Amino acid sequence: MAKGIVSFDTGRCKACELCVYFCPKDVLGLDHNNINVMGYHPVAALQPDNCTGCGICALMCPDLVIVVERE
Ligand code: SF4
Ligand code: SF4
Repeated sequence: MAKGIVSFDTGRCKACELCVYFCPKDVLGLDHNNINVMGYHPVAALQPDNCTGCGICALMCPDLVIVVERE
């Protein structure tokens, strides 16, 4: 199965969780140990090994926070 790597422009994340909801592999979640410049807990890859690189999260994010690379 294809493997993906997700990266984030963390400072732009408004913690709406759209990407969390739509990820079919439950990779993403809010990082409650981190606060960004806007005062939100930003999204992070909590289970990065599960990422297939499908790109749905990047498509869903209204703020262009997420970049997906495929191996
Ligand atoms: S690329 Fe797909 S599997 Fe990986 S985090 Fe985004 S939605 Fe989830
Ligand atoms: S969809 Fe974008 S703004 Fe919303 S939680 Fe995900 S990365 Fe953050």
